[in-house]
Amino acid sequence: IELLNTPADALETRFEEQIRPIRMLDFAGQQRLTDNLRVFISAAKMRGDALDHVLLSGPPGLGKTTLAHIIAAEMGSSIKATSGPLLDKAGNLAGLLTGLQKGDVLFIDEIHRMPPAVEEYLYSAMEDFRIDIMLDSGPSARAVQLRIEPFTLVGATTRSGLLTSPLRARFGINSRFDYYSADLLEKIIIRASGILGIGVDQDAAAEIAGRSRGTPRIANRLLRRARDFAQVADARLITRSIAMTTLDCLEIDEEGLDDMDKKIMDTIVNKFSGGPVGAASLAVSVGEEQDTIEEVYEPYLIQAGYIARTPRGRVATRRALLRFSVQESRGD
Ligand code: ADP
Repeated sequence: IELLNTPADALETRFEEQIRPIRMLDFAGQQRLTDNLRVFISAAKMRGDALDHVLLSGPPGLGKTTLAHIIAAEMGSSIKATSGPLLDKAGNLAGLLTGLQKGDVLFIDEIHRMPPAVEEYLYSAMEDFRIDIMLDSGPSARAVQLRIEPFTLVGATTRSGLLTSPLRARFGINSRFDYYSADLLEKIIIRASGILGIGVDQDAAAEIAGRSRGTPRIANRLLRRARDFAQVADARLITRSIAMTTLDCLEIDEEGLDDMDKKIMDTIVNKFSGGPVGAASLAVSVGEEQDTIEEVYEPYLIQAGYIARTPRGRVATRRALLRFSVQESRGD
């Protein structure tokens, strides 16, 4: 089972939309970030201005897309959503920008993956609300300037380090998402179960929350799987025992580590004698994309205290050596 990253399929996307909080009130956690945003939103509304451009960064599944939609709803504006890799031509971006009404939100997911030519095009749009359009090509080519309505760009990225500095500098509000505590995930699970129309015992919710690696998307995904197990067992309620069966069947350990996490740790600890090891060699060894390792697996393994980053590469922490050394953990 693929527990990470983006929604797995259309069914899951629909499910995510169904349970996605719509207003700030339903959005759990990220307290500091949402407190600040509330202030900026109220102030912009009082002035009758568009909200300043917002950059949301952090690992996948923590609520960046959700918050972008909430920002638009709280501003009373519409949202248009796209993503960096989809904006392969400046023309696509121009089409989106010229269609915006005053105060609208343009959401660009994976904004670090926008082609440079498109990115440069965005600068004047963000700064002066105008774009230059080339008419014709060759000798008769000429540029015309088009004004666009003041809008809010909300950019989301899993790799804020890959953003160019001119782009970063054009965001007035820069917010970083943190992993969620188990307590918060428990609340999120209980809320989602209500929407799904299945009961969940509090200790079952706690068990799932503790193994969701701080990520609402994973918590919700595990909840759905637990609902399947409850359904075939003809139970109306997800009990702790159903939750445990689900988690065991999916081979998710007490800390939410899955097969790939364990493979990464085994590789660093045993194959590379604890490191340091570079991301590229690690990727080859475990047979996973380097990007995925850096965006998805590594941030959580660092947060969980198993990997430390040094200038020479990743190293296993003492905690990791204790747990993953083959001599120590045989039979684990
Ligand atoms: P991202 O864009 O960061 O990858 P999403 O916004 O798509 O993450 O969130 C993934 C799922 O997690 C959504 O279904 C959403 O309902 C849920 N979710 C995320 N953050 C929260 C939150 N703070 N409270 C409740 N549910 C959340």
